[in-house]
Amino acid sequence: MRFPQKPICQATGFCRAPVLRRICGVVVACLLATTALSVSAMTPRVATDIGPIHSLAARVMAGIGVPDLIIRHGASPHAYSLRPSEAAALEKADLVFWVSEGLTPWLKRRLEILASKAQVVELMKADGTVELPYREGATFANHDDHDGIDSHDGIDPHSWLDPENGKVWLSVMASELSKIDPSNADLYFQNAAAGTLEISQAVARINELLVPVHGVKFVVFHDAYQYFEQRFGISASGSILASDALAPNPARLIEIRGQVAELGVGCVFSEPQFNPTLVASVFQDAEISTAVIDSQGIELELGMTLYPQVLENIAQEIVACAGG
Ligand SMILES: [Zn+2]
Repeated sequence: MRFPQKPICQATGFCRAPVLRRICGVVVACLLATTALSVSAMTPRVATDIGPIHSLAARVMAGIGVPDLIIRHGASPHAYSLRPSEAAALEKADLVFWVSEGLTPWLKRRLEILASKAQVVELMKADGTVELPYREGATFANHDDHDGIDSHDGIDPHSWLDPENGKVWLSVMASELSKIDPSNADLYFQNAAAGTLEISQAVARINELLVPVHGVKFVVFHDAYQYFEQRFGISASGSILASDALAPNPARLIEIRGQVAELGVGCVFSEPQFNPTLVASVFQDAEISTAVIDSQGIELELGMTLYPQVLENIAQEIVACAGG
């Protein structure tokens, strides 16, 4: 390894003798090592709310650092209590990326208390994010039935299931990370561009996969999939739970059962975060296939490949259930 001795040594005139030159080399080596340590110590601490957002942040930070996840992978984000280690991750964070208050209303106050020193970025407020209003009623047709939803802004928060939003947020993350870690700005933006390309490739595969099932009728467990449906030109006939995943009232269950019979819905999806017995009890007499879809990829390993894989898995499950 060569050390840039000249500027310091020539400036001081200290290193002319061979022994002093060696000492000078050691001093410069120490200075460089200290600088390297302080650079790695400055890698931003990033906290994220759910697996897909963690995945996008991991993509942008590849080669630099790894984000923290503050809602346990596998838990429903709609209602959650932070564990001590997760609260500590928020306290240490320089930067927090979260979807929205609509997804995790309980988190807003926690962020104010625990992440007061961090730059907090609510991704759904980012320019360019596609927003869709809540669908209402079990069959998305009843505009008078708010079904217990006390919405903050009337916007469905499951917005990461639109891959175009994933792309927008990669770029938001690269910008925010570059502001607090400008020395790695080039890499953050290169990573975001690579992540964008990977999402586009996944979208092309999904479009191809879904060709045979356009028009297929299915029911989802909680109303989390309209961003995916709109982007890929398919549509669910209803959901057992509303978008906030609160327990359904009996009228909602009667409505969805009627819809299944009337439309000849052949497929119903449960989700791994929720108890599948409700699906079985709602449709116990119906001729209907069941399968599992997962808006967060809780059975996937956390990391940068999770986000596009979540989208592809949803498409594969719809194809498998519709064809079954
Ligand atoms: Zn949800």
